[in-house]
Amino acid sequence: MEKKNIDWGNLGFAYMQTDKRFVSNYKDGAWDDGAIISDATVSITECAGVFQYAQTCFEGLKAYTTEDGSIVCFRPDLNAERMKQSAERLEMPVFPKDRFIKAVIDTVKANEAWVPPYGSGATLYIRPNMNATGAVIGVKPADEYQFRIFVTPVGPYFKGGVKPLTLRICDFDRAAPHGTGHIKAGLNYAMSLHAIVDAHKAGFDENMFLDSATRTKVEETGGANFLFVTKDNKVVTPKSNSILPSITRRSLMVVAKDYLGLEVEEREIYKEELADFAECGLCGTAAVISPVGKINDHGKEICFPSGMTSMGPVTKKLYDTLTGIQMGRIKGPEGWVVKIS
Ligand SMILES: *Cc1c(COP(=O)(O)O)cnc(C)c1O
Repeated sequence: MEKKNIDWGNLGFAYMQTDKRFVSNYKDGAWDDGAIISDATVSITECAGVFQYAQTCFEGLKAYTTEDGSIVCFRPDLNAERMKQSAERLEMPVFPKDRFIKAVIDTVKANEAWVPPYGSGATLYIRPNMNATGAVIGVKPADEYQFRIFVTPVGPYFKGGVKPLTLRICDFDRAAPHGTGHIKAGLNYAMSLHAIVDAHKAGFDENMFLDSATRTKVEETGGANFLFVTKDNKVVTPKSNSILPSITRRSLMVVAKDYLGLEVEEREIYKEELADFAECGLCGTAAVISPVGKINDHGKEICFPSGMTSMGPVTKKLYDTLTGIQMGRIKGPEGWVVKIS
């Protein structure tokens, strides 16, 4: 198989149409067999539930070329499970988990020429998504859906080196206490766009959202979970029912405990504690961990001792170990790295 002629090292994070995608349609109460197809466009009624009432959810994971030249992906079973939970909360039909995993593998295989080579820093981003395709005008769940997986090669996240982020504590809320913050729904992103555009205008990289009930506790950013390191090297992450359960964050907590021998804790984290931490990072599939250098709380700056030029030492070890597992340089726990070809 010949790789596409792409300058892998200089790819950004943008959509590039590849050759193949997986599509399965739900009609009359059942999913069809699905197929790998070439058509990158979706043609559905103007009255589709996704257009009217935002009945849509998605997932994100990556395929990597490992040191020995295999193509693998990382914990796709957890994406399958999370998409099941998203679908259930949005009254959408669940795409069976075993079929989800097989469809991920088949889609990557069909686009093997687009999987960036080992050492390039680039990866193949995989985007499963489900949309209500049936017409609805009265407010109710649609009766037809499409599950689709497309892929797109994406560049190294830390191109030009690691730059710690500057966050601001945001006055907009991301998720209500019993709302949809814990599922990967497009609607959570639609309403975060104003907050992020506003943050960028004010010179910040990201928003730190607080719990909307009391506005005293740390939740997450628009698309990544928080990880903190205390001054005595304990790894702490916020506990809340309205945070999206990041697979990267859950994996990093295991790495911290079982690979680095660190104490780990998932608990409520108060805004008042922020100044006591030694390191702070944002976790998600895109970057694994992006270090946070400072947080602006309405003009008052909280600067982490790790500074504005590099990752803190614990963040760096976590990053190196997890990416080492993903790239096949370090043996991962059973089932984490799934071989595609
Ligand atoms: C997807 C997502 C994350 C990161 O999850 P990963 O599984 O680690 O990629 C974090 N927060 C939100 C709101 C998300 O949508």
